Amino acid sequence: MFAHDNNDALHILQSVFGYPSFRGQQADIVNHVAGGGDALVLMPTGGGKSLCYQIPALLRDGVSVVVSPLIALMQDQVDALAEVGVKAAFLNSTQSFDEAMRTERKVRNGELDLIYVAPERLMTPRCLELLEASKIALFAIDEAHCVSQWGHDFRPEYIKLSVLHERFPQVPRIALTATADPQTRAEIAHRLQLDDAMQFVSSFDRPNIRYQIVEKSNGRKQVLDFITEEHPGDAGIVYCLSRKKVEETAEFLNAHGVAALPYHAGMDMATRTANQARFLREDAIVMVATIAFGMGIDKPDVRFVAHLDLPKSIEGYYQETGRAGRDGAPADAWMAYGLQDVVQQRRMIDESEADENFKRVQIAKLDAMLGLCETLNCRRVRLLDYFGQPSGACGNCDTCLAPPVSFDGTVQVQKLLSAIYRVEQRFGAGHVIDVLRGVDSEKVRQWRHDKQSTFGIGSETSEAEWRAILRQVIALGLVVVDHDAYGSLKLTAEARPVLRGERAVQLRQYQKPAKKKRDAAKPKGYAESALSPVEQAIFEKLRWWRVETARKHNVPAYVIFHDATMREIAKAQPASLDDLRSISGVGEKKLDTYGEEIISLIAAMG
Ligand code: ADP
Ligand code: ZN
Repeated sequence: MFAHDNNDALHILQSVFGYPSFRGQQADIVNHVAGGGDALVLMPTGGGKSLCYQIPALLRDGVSVVVSPLIALMQDQVDALAEVGVKAAFLNSTQSFDEAMRTERKVRNGELDLIYVAPERLMTPRCLELLEASKIALFAIDEAHCVSQWGHDFRPEYIKLSVLHERFPQVPRIALTATADPQTRAEIAHRLQLDDAMQFVSSFDRPNIRYQIVEKSNGRKQVLDFITEEHPGDAGIVYCLSRKKVEETAEFLNAHGVAALPYHAGMDMATRTANQARFLREDAIVMVATIAFGMGIDKPDVRFVAHLDLPKSIEGYYQETGRAGRDGAPADAWMAYGLQDVVQQRRMIDESEADENFKRVQIAKLDAMLGLCETLNCRRVRLLDYFGQPSGACGNCDTCLAPPVSFDGTVQVQKLLSAIYRVEQRFGAGHVIDVLRGVDSEKVRQWRHDKQSTFGIGSETSEAEWRAILRQVIALGLVVVDHDAYGSLKLTAEARPVLRGERAVQLRQYQKPAKKKRDAAKPKGYAESALSPVEQAIFEKLRWWRVETARKHNVPAYVIFHDATMREIAKAQPASLDDLRSISGVGEKKLDTYGEEIISLIAAMG
């Protein structure tokens, strides 16, 4: 290790990566790790985790080992580093024996700054021996939450990573994750033997993301309208629960002029990989996917993430929506949700083979998710609160922009609870609502429910409205959906004081799903100004140039330059390499490779 100080780190940030200053806690993390300390870094998606190990890797002597489960993305990561002049390579199962041999030789000879390795590869005796014979600068453990057994990304090989500490006690380790909850953090520290590591916990707010949760009526149609009205020609992700729904939705979107591709674990590997590559490389693909898609996807310009089904937990929702707007420009997290989602999720938990303890945890997580959907207050406050971070109303979520009106719904709730009670808690939502509305159905007659005192007492309220009330009552914990085949509604102990008139219930005023005009206001914390017509023309020209260049180099377009960098170039219209150097995102290597081309491209337009 050679001597360094804060200035060396800043110098690398500027000259190699082309960024003027560190973000958030990056500087502290870089200095801590470059100085040989262990670190546990929690930073939201898009926060800038990569530089936290890439810069120490350049400051310290030897090769830095990056452990990552994301084999499919290693090539792009290595290409992006090559673009800025950093020597990196990877070792995983996708490469030939010869390629792996060549890479191993480079590691041994100290010719690399960074080596990306899949965890199962790292644990092989051959790889551990290689590392023992080489000079190691640090270990970076990316996606560290994969070590958590309760999380949905659990990877058994991650548990074994504690070996690194035992075999290489003098090498600093940095573990990184975007999963924020305190339990996962404790589990990472414990399992990776990072109890003594310095913890860096960033704010989890993503101010440029606008959260919206709408009432589901016809989900497919709603998401189509959302895309065509608010995000025509943008890249985005649509999450669905089942493989079948993924395929149907992708087909539906395509049939209506949206370029959409499916992605789920049931597809063959080649198609999946090809679809992912197109999503990364092309400008305006909508990926329709199950949650199998997305971990580690670092496409910066995903403009929206839409959920057509309720996620299982706030952690999942936050991780998935976090894939929008990594570049800091405005992005949408949009979700359509309805009563059926609640019933379905409850059933999935109840029918799973897991033990009771695990089921209880899942139910608590689902309840928190429902609470977020039904809240009368700011969504962001609710989200951040879940991760233990207090905040104030954000002004950039649906409940802030169009505050829901609440009213005293005690009487309606009492009617609903009584109706559930009268049918002996043996019927599902559809039937209970029929009884309330006085619908003369076959089932009603068969069970003689038209003879009950609750028959028709809620006829003034529409079916959709009753469903909305029922969802809120479930979110409040007054009613649970049973796991029998009918999804029977059952009262909880909490229902009693409401029925007895001892507790009032505030409800959200029902609003018919209607098209909402998009608010023109820019979200807080985002200061991008519009381009003038001339600047816009330059920007478009640059985009064409980038498409061609990316194709020539066989890398995703954003690896060449981000949109944000090209917008700045369009505004500044640099006339010399020195002018160009001062733009954020232009480091020495890129200046060298592309500088002349860009200067002459701009000169030609002037
Ligand atoms: P994460 O892994 O935390 O999701 P990344 O490391 O991929 O985030 O960084 C997100 C984006 O922010 C990347 O495009 C990266 O180049 C950019 N970025 C990171 N740090 C800075 C910085 N200090 N200044 C400007 N851009 C940055
Ligand atoms: Zn808000």
